[in-house]
Amino acid sequence: MERFNVAEQQTAPLLLTPGPLTTSRMVKETMLVDHGTWDDEYKAVTEDVRRDLLRVGQANPQDYTTVLMQGSGSFAVEATLQTAIPSDGTVLIAINGAYGQRMATMADRIGIRHLDVDFGELNQVTLQPVLTVLAEHPEVTHFAMVHSETTTGILNPLVPIIPELTARGIVTIVDAMSSFGGVPLEIDAVGMDYLISSANKCIQGVPGFAFVIAKRAVLAQTAGRARSLSLDLYDQWRCFENNAGKWRFTSPTHTVYAFHQALHELFVEGGVRARTNRYARNEVRLRKGMASLGFEPLIAEVAQSPIITSFKYPHADFDLTAFYHALKDEGFIIYPGKVSAAASFRIGNIGEVYDGDVDRLLDVVSRYVEQPAPVR
Ligand SMILES: *Cc1c(COP(=O)(O)O)cnc(C)c1O
Repeated sequence: MERFNVAEQQTAPLLLTPGPLTTSRMVKETMLVDHGTWDDEYKAVTEDVRRDLLRVGQANPQDYTTVLMQGSGSFAVEATLQTAIPSDGTVLIAINGAYGQRMATMADRIGIRHLDVDFGELNQVTLQPVLTVLAEHPEVTHFAMVHSETTTGILNPLVPIIPELTARGIVTIVDAMSSFGGVPLEIDAVGMDYLISSANKCIQGVPGFAFVIAKRAVLAQTAGRARSLSLDLYDQWRCFENNAGKWRFTSPTHTVYAFHQALHELFVEGGVRARTNRYARNEVRLRKGMASLGFEPLIAEVAQSPIITSFKYPHADFDLTAFYHALKDEGFIIYPGKVSAAASFRIGNIGEVYDGDVDRLLDVVSRYVEQPAPVR
């Protein structure tokens, strides 16, 4: 019996989430073939992916290299922290949401000394408070921040922060998980030492691996530093380099093929610029439409990323579970809020999502808010 039901797949709900997100049908179909990890074709696909990611990030291949890492995005963040930062190092972490906080938790677990600068969940990361802490702590060797803080949808500016720290000899780590491929990033120009993202966000692949774009000269100095074997970013890199694209340990073959296809589709769409424009159009349409239905955005417009939008509950006894299920019944999956500051929920603008989808969603929301209140 044919178990793979395409018709069912086409009526599957649209994921308006920060990833995993709705992927194209071609990306899904690529996964219908099984591949061996020693195969030359698979290794060539891996090398293509490593090269294409540098292109997406506008990183010069002379200076930068890509290391793919099995697991979700957090695995690559943890691999980077524990490989990049030596036992006598100290990392300064800028925090304005759950993902910055997660890096601090990782540092605790690994046993890395860290200083946290907390900006609060509703504010962008800025340079001055970072410099103030640095002035008091000359022992800082590394700096880590999140680019698009998916907790709220805030986009943190990398410039002037990263260049300023690089100029002071500090190694910089950027979690660009939910922005890479969806927001233009010029790695060469910004000059961060490590940038981390994953397969299932703005490149529009499926979950299964993450990747780190690292400055070759910096990564080359990290041999033997990693505190664990599986998450050793240096060893992982050497395996790709020494064996023409051979992954260390079993790799998510189907995911890699799907990602290769997703990268191709990104280039066909017109590259990062075109994709950003589509996401930004979705975001503006969504934010304006929701505002007209009584849902106020949580984040000020200047700090808002095109990736995901947070909305405050329209009134104190708003029932998110009922709202979620009403939308799900109409084919849309949204996301709960993640901030403690205000009762909120999130709607993602990324993935295979277009103007018409946003319009259909707004129509469903408008019918929901106009229905008579339940009798208590
Ligand atoms: C998605 C995401 C991560 C990684 O989350 P995983 O669940 O481990 O994939 C890290 N940082 C940010 C900003 C993210 O959006």
